Amino acid sequence: MPVRVRFAPSPTGPFSLGNARTAIFAWLFAKKEGGKFLIRIEDTDKERSKKEYEEGILKTLEWLGIVSDEPIVRQSERSAIYETYLKKLLEEKKAYYCFCTSEELEAERQAQLSQGFPPRYSGKCKSLSSDVVAEKIKKGEGVIRFRMSETTISFQDAVHGKASFDASLLGDIIIAKGLREPLYNYAVVVDDYEMKVSHVIRGDDHFSNTPKQIAIQDALGFPHVHYAHLPLILGPDHKKLSKRYLDASMYEYKTAGYLASAVFNFLALLGWHPEKDREVLTVKEILEEFSLKRVQKSGGIFNPEKLEWLNSQHIKNTSAETLIGLLEPFIPPAWATNKELLRNVVEIEKERVKHLSDFQDIAGFFFELSEYKKELLIWNDTPVSAILDNLGFALSVIREIPPHEFKKETIERYLMTVTEKRGRGEVLWPLRVALSGKEASPGPAEIMEALGKEESVKRIEFALQKIAS
Ligand code: GLU
Repeated sequence: MPVRVRFAPSPTGPFSLGNARTAIFAWLFAKKEGGKFLIRIEDTDKERSKKEYEEGILKTLEWLGIVSDEPIVRQSERSAIYETYLKKLLEEKKAYYCFCTSEELEAERQAQLSQGFPPRYSGKCKSLSSDVVAEKIKKGEGVIRFRMSETTISFQDAVHGKASFDASLLGDIIIAKGLREPLYNYAVVVDDYEMKVSHVIRGDDHFSNTPKQIAIQDALGFPHVHYAHLPLILGPDHKKLSKRYLDASMYEYKTAGYLASAVFNFLALLGWHPEKDREVLTVKEILEEFSLKRVQKSGGIFNPEKLEWLNSQHIKNTSAETLIGLLEPFIPPAWATNKELLRNVVEIEKERVKHLSDFQDIAGFFFELSEYKKELLIWNDTPVSAILDNLGFALSVIREIPPHEFKKETIERYLMTVTEKRGRGEVLWPLRVALSGKEASPGPAEIMEALGKEESVKRIEFALQKIAS
């Protein structure tokens, strides 16, 4: 059977962590098996489904490098298909109309609970006469219930192993509010069949829906599919993850300066890990190692600090060329006009930034020296006159470096002649501040290589004037 895996989000809220993790696992499995990855938008809930949420889902998936291999399926466009199979179930008496009011159902539920029985629908409307049914339908009343089998339903889950459910405890579930208003468990079965889905990979929260869906598959004579239910996502304390993280839109990570490759890496590790427990992995490496066999049963731990660390590692491992493209929304457009400087700066700072959004703040001084206090140029208790003298000495040495040799190692070599005589801190501190205007920055030689000789000399001269004034 060809492998066809679907990802079936409901566009009823921002595209969240759990959904993104499901999409990634489904995509990885499909690609690993040389199969197809399909997207189905489950928008049958007309009130809660919104186009903007659908757009958010697709935009985020695309950012993560995940696209559907076939045209996207939307449940809202498939009412006629659901109607056909509903009619079949009704004709074959595998489904029936129910007209119980919510008050009646609630009273029934309470009575069952008080007698110590698990609540389930009593089957009251199961044998209504066709005339009564026709009359009520004409008035627009009624829902459609599925006649649940009374057997044990078993299935093999790729993560959890064999699972068995006593279907008689499930009761006759509602599968549609009308012929053209299917509900989740029913619509999923029809769509999975129509889309020739072979594998259903989804969150553990759907585990208990599986026997219901298998019962409906059986009633419609559809073949079974393979299941894999992914573990819950827990917080760093191994308890329920806070809503702040669970519900946050995954696209916000993009705007906060996370790389798609880091987020992908992070999500893939939420419930799966490769052999030898390597952590920093590219999509290609994950794909090479991915297997449902290595998906754990216990919760995947969400640790925001780990995501941050992975992001810094991915930034470090990304070429300056690629980073320049990714940085575009995070830096002033003017920076891109000086291509050589930007490239040099990215090369230096990619070792330090944790998010792309940190870049402007951290690297801004390369492009424009900000106002700084002259006291910042003073190293410890060194007298002002000594600082002036040391910086002047350093400048004279720097001037001697041939422009075509203005590289970090050469600059360091030249500077050594100054630091040996005057002390490292005494020379390098004021020099670094003169070049950056900041309390913390990369070392002076690194900065000078990026800035070039002319700009470096200009900044040191400016500092000298500042101290002297
Ligand atoms: N639409 C369901 C959800 O978003 C997923 C259904 C499924 O994967 O079977 O939770």
